[in-house]
Amino acid sequence: MISNIEEEVRKIKKYALDNNVPIMVDESIDYLTDFIVKKQINSVLEIGTAIGYSAIMMALSNPNIKITSVERDKDRYLEAVKNIKIFNLEDRVTLIFNDAFNINLTDKFDLIFFDAAKSQNIRFFEKFEHNLNESGFIITDNISFHGLVEDDSKIVSRNVRGLVRKIKNYIDFLKNNDRYVVSFLDIGDGLSIAEKK
Ligand code: SAH
Ligand code: MG
Repeated sequence: MISNIEEEVRKIKKYALDNNVPIMVDESIDYLTDFIVKKQINSVLEIGTAIGYSAIMMALSNPNIKITSVERDKDRYLEAVKNIKIFNLEDRVTLIFNDAFNINLTDKFDLIFFDAAKSQNIRFFEKFEHNLNESGFIITDNISFHGLVEDDSKIVSRNVRGLVRKIKNYIDFLKNNDRYVVSFLDIGDGLSIAEKK
């Protein structure tokens, strides 16, 4: 294990800030990593690696955890590969460079984490649900989209309005899904947690 973990984490966060990479906010990362420890999550499928920040934080929270993470943007994927190496996490973090809709996985995971295109969450859910272990969890980030999902009076562009509508559709989809117990948390940019019944 590298000695200056905190310093390296700081560098990744600075890179994200400088390059407009939308990594998870501290509050959400803290919640997610606590959740992993509490629920003894040992395997994670993440959709939306970006530069590997959340994957690294999850890997550091549990020395036994294995993570598979998917990213479709080449530059971000390459940056993530570099970052995973810096933390010597190649054995526990597997990065896949592809569009999530083009891959087919047979493995099962304790936790599936959606943090990719916000308009596609229903499709992600339907595509990857079969990869969830019995009594596993599906967590989704940015369910509140900067507060616009709760208060859409501040929306200025048509694009954002469309996106917010899709996030609302996803929320309804989760609420109406009787195979899961769902909760919505006002943490960071909003998290949803769906637990398989
Ligand atoms: N989880 C990261 C942040 C992810 S940002 C962290 O907190 O550190 C969202 C990422 O999802 C972007 O880099 C984007 O390229 C990627 N993405 C969006 N749609 C995708 C798809 N269909 N397949 C793979 N990656 C996708
Ligand atoms: Mg996010």
